[in-house]
Amino acid sequence: MAQRVALSEGGNKKHSRVRVAVRLRPFLAQPDERDDGPCVRGLDSQNLEIINWRNATESVKYHFDAFYGEKTTQQEVFLSSVKPILPHVLNGQNASVFAYGPTGAGKTHTMLGSSEQLGVIPRAVREVFNLVNAKDANEGWDYKIGMSYLEIYNEKVLDLLSPNSQDLPIREDKDKNIFIPGLTHITISSFSDFDSHFVPASLNRTTASTKLNQRSSRSHAVLLIKVVRTWRALHHRQQTGKLYLIDLAGSEDNRRTGNQGIRLKESGAINLSLFTLSKVVDSLNSGTAIRVPYRDSKLTRLLQDSLGGSAHSVMIANIAPEYKYYFDTFSALNFAAKSKLIVNKPFTRETVAPPVLTVKRARETHEAQEAGTE
Ligand code: ADP
Ligand code: MG
Repeated sequence: MAQRVALSEGGNKKHSRVRVAVRLRPFLAQPDERDDGPCVRGLDSQNLEIINWRNATESVKYHFDAFYGEKTTQQEVFLSSVKPILPHVLNGQNASVFAYGPTGAGKTHTMLGSSEQLGVIPRAVREVFNLVNAKDANEGWDYKIGMSYLEIYNEKVLDLLSPNSQDLPIREDKDKNIFIPGLTHITISSFSDFDSHFVPASLNRTTASTKLNQRSSRSHAVLLIKVVRTWRALHHRQQTGKLYLIDLAGSEDNRRTGNQGIRLKESGAINLSLFTLSKVVDSLNSGTAIRVPYRDSKLTRLLQDSLGGSAHSVMIANIAPEYKYYFDTFSALNFAAKSKLIVNKPFTRETVAPPVLTVKRARETHEAQEAGTE
């Protein structure tokens, strides 16, 4: 009986769509900057508006699964967007949580947070342990939790738990499960055990980043938490659930991609994975695609079994309210809104291409800012 129930859970073919949330961080004015006030604001728990620069009396409105305003706490983001998908991972299903958005908009704050304001990663890992510990032993399953941690930088897969490793290959087994041969996988027995591996690996990444010129904003940090359960009465019977927690590269690369021929190529090379992710999400969400282009980049290939299909996926698009982010915000919202369209076909959306002058000005401001910080 229990076996039959478990099988139907594991083989659930119901299509889970990508849930999309947008999080607006608080206004952070620099002392020497002209304070124009915010260019984007929340309307309610699902809607926001951004000023239309072509006509400042107009705004463009967007609708999402969730909108988190600047006062939203880390706890609220976790409870409403992430916690509900975690039980599936114990049932042999896959899940993924992404933080998307331009550099400076709050991706790392959302995923990692600080010791005072813990982000999605520490909360989710703690919750997975809580869920496993709360399981009734009489159910007949034994659970084992493990972790891997990698970075995708310039289409290279690098093991953050084994810092000297080379680019690793991505493979698919006969059951269409994606795996990386040679990737370090550590069994973890508690949250503090997790932390003892994760913290030094994250620090490694930060150190490497400063040496390699903004690398952290150009690479995807991918944490994998794997829950394997074994049926006690029949040891070869196992189910594996994978949870991917991802701090994506800054979407400003993608912004440059969309607008000019040469830049498009350049940016594609800098961050093919982010560009392909937008195509994959688009294609999953439109529901009409014949082929979802998972194989076109390392990130999407890695996530092939954990994004779309029967997987549970959440994207948190982080945006910033300052005018200098206008272009980045606009493109992040359009990226996120496309995935929303999949599921909400009756929803009509005003689309306004930002005027060329605005685009140029926003980009110049952004580039000046980047140059100033390097
Ligand atoms: P990203 O990882 O997208 O480049 P960060 O997470 O580093 O951006 O955020 C940029 C800055 O904004 C950091 O100083 C961060 O602490 C702050 N920040 C981001 N989101 C929030 C928030 N929701 N509340 C308060 N501060 C935030
Ligand atoms: Mg960051």
